[in-house]
Amino acid sequence: MNFSDSERLASFLEENNLKPAKQITEANLVIFNSCGVRKMPEDRAFGQIHNIRKNNPNVKIILTGCISQRKDVQLTLAKKVNLFFPIKNFDKLKKFININFKNTKSKLKKSKIENRNFTSDNKKIDYLSTIPSYTNKFQANVPIMTGCDNFCAYCVVPYARGREVSREADKIIKEIKNLLKNGFREITLLGQNVNSYKGELNIKNSKLKINDTINFSQLLKMINEIPGDFRIRFMSSHPKDMSDELIQAITSLDKVCESVHLPIQSGDDTVLKNMNRKYTRKHYLNLIKKVKAGFEINKPHKLYSISSDIIVGFPGETKAQFEKSAFVMRQVKYDMVYFGQFSPRPQTAAWKMKDNVTKPGKERREKYLNEILKKTALANNKKYLDKTIDVLVENKKGEFYFGKTRTFKNVRIISDQKNLIGKFVKVKITKINIWNLEGKLYEK
Ligand code: SF4
Repeated sequence: MNFSDSERLASFLEENNLKPAKQITEANLVIFNSCGVRKMPEDRAFGQIHNIRKNNPNVKIILTGCISQRKDVQLTLAKKVNLFFPIKNFDKLKKFININFKNTKSKLKKSKIENRNFTSDNKKIDYLSTIPSYTNKFQANVPIMTGCDNFCAYCVVPYARGREVSREADKIIKEIKNLLKNGFREITLLGQNVNSYKGELNIKNSKLKINDTINFSQLLKMINEIPGDFRIRFMSSHPKDMSDELIQAITSLDKVCESVHLPIQSGDDTVLKNMNRKYTRKHYLNLIKKVKAGFEINKPHKLYSISSDIIVGFPGETKAQFEKSAFVMRQVKYDMVYFGQFSPRPQTAAWKMKDNVTKPGKERREKYLNEILKKTALANNKKYLDKTIDVLVENKKGEFYFGKTRTFKNVRIISDQKNLIGKFVKVKITKINIWNLEGKLYEK
């Protein structure tokens, strides 16, 4: 989400006649779009702000993103940062630019702007109407919502981004159609909890009735109906909002990739309750069963993948409770899990809980789960051997191309063909590893 916001920031600055500097040392303005989900990225932002200010006392520094509205951060960085602004308030950024960069009179292009009604009102997300400067020519992130109402005990997002706001469906469709017209092949729908999307629908002649709102499965169906050869991905999903209707849509729509990321966070019901996740292990495992059955019924000839997020060492997590996460991992047989060692974040409910699992203890727990993951990921990858798989080529390093399957597996490709980047190709898988596949370009 921050990456996508930064693409919008870049586009906004260019509209205001600012140009990217070749190096950070040459810049007159540096914007930090900060992440506060863990302590480490926060520390890195502090360190870099300090260094830039030390080396260039005249540079203007702006801080936005997760940590920019925290009082403690503003106090600590008061002498180093010129402006703190919440990402949704481009209005504040515009005023700052007009005052500090007088020669950069706005040359707002009509084509780039849908609605220039900037506001700090939490209910509006007009900053999303700025068409981003996409850093990639064939894969784009399209935010469909921002903010979150869930208040998981460890998470800063509801404080940093505010409450959940969904973007109008017609604006999303318009942005995607425009991307497809420009040759994009993969669209990733973004939101803190895309499963609870509820957006206004104002499209005339749509097959869907014009309602007040549509849900995420209806949105997926509408995007899937857009003509063209492209993939749809989305993140993130919350297990409490994963309905049967949505599982049916995800597992049956042809353009939606066969890769489901469903974060469990912990396999223990008491820990889940303390995390304020609002589901149980049984509910989660039942969802996974339905997802697997959905793929097997609706796309019987396709491989699929399942991934998750797990936090180790949440306050009070006992060894027995931790073992339940290991149990879930053995049951589900994930393709990928993103582990996080619990780190207390200011403002959150868990900030006040006793962080009683030591750092080495958290490391040991993560390592233990990672060993389970290595086994299930390798076993799942065996299904790919000798198969010919669709891959979107992403880049080339040395003599190899690299790309991703619809199931989000990395593939190293041998081919002497030129200009494959950004194209869909068929790859015959000749070798499998834990974290990637290897193969040759399939030519009939
Ligand atoms: Fe954070 Fe929970 Fe919202 Fe995800 S669902 S963004 S973890 S509060």
